[in-house]
Amino acid sequence: MARILIVEDEERIAAFVAKGLRAEGHQTTVAADGENGLDEALSGGYDLAILDIGLPRMSGFEVLDQLRSQGSRLPVIVLTARDSVTDTVSALEGGADDYMPKPFRFAELVARVRLRLRQAADQQGPAEDTLEAGGVRLDLRSRQATVRGEQVDLSAREFTLAQIFMLNPGQVLTREQLLDHVWGYDFDPGSNVVDVYVGYLRKKFGAETITTIRGMGYRFTP
Ligand code: CA
Repeated sequence: MARILIVEDEERIAAFVAKGLRAEGHQTTVAADGENGLDEALSGGYDLAILDIGLPRMSGFEVLDQLRSQGSRLPVIVLTARDSVTDTVSALEGGADDYMPKPFRFAELVARVRLRLRQAADQQGPAEDTLEAGGVRLDLRSRQATVRGEQVDLSAREFTLAQIFMLNPGQVLTREQLLDHVWGYDFDPGSNVVDVYVGYLRKKFGAETITTIRGMGYRFTP
């Protein structure tokens, strides 16, 4: 499952691509102009973008240029007219990872999406990039969390606490360990802040995901 941004102003094409990618198990978001597309792409909430060149407000070339000049390494597949070879060459020079000539068959697009996602995962090392267990997924770069595919909002402390649990699945973590890791020395060991935050995570992840081990601490059970 990946989060895919589709920047395409032709509703028919955007809907077709989005529907197909959702059927493949991905989450999709459509941006219908270049400015919106750039904002979304820079949000850090995506694993891949599919980018049309001919867009209102800002062309796909400009979007790509801005994206790369702001340091984003988001994999981008550019959609380009079949006859515009120059477009394609500039797109690749401008930092696109791949391109798809229009019109395209959906199967071709899916094959490229798979390939790009796999390459991105190989380069970044999925273990460093995301943590996934028991239906919970943490994106360590964008600091976003999903539970069974649904995005959930976590505060900075909740995110850090979730991260410690997910790095140590099945292990009992004491209150002191959690307090040290997440809160540093700001809190006295008698504080119940850990219990309170475990309660918050249970609400968001499901009560069964974190077990209380009486007299010891907590265990994350995927
Ligand atoms: Ca267009």
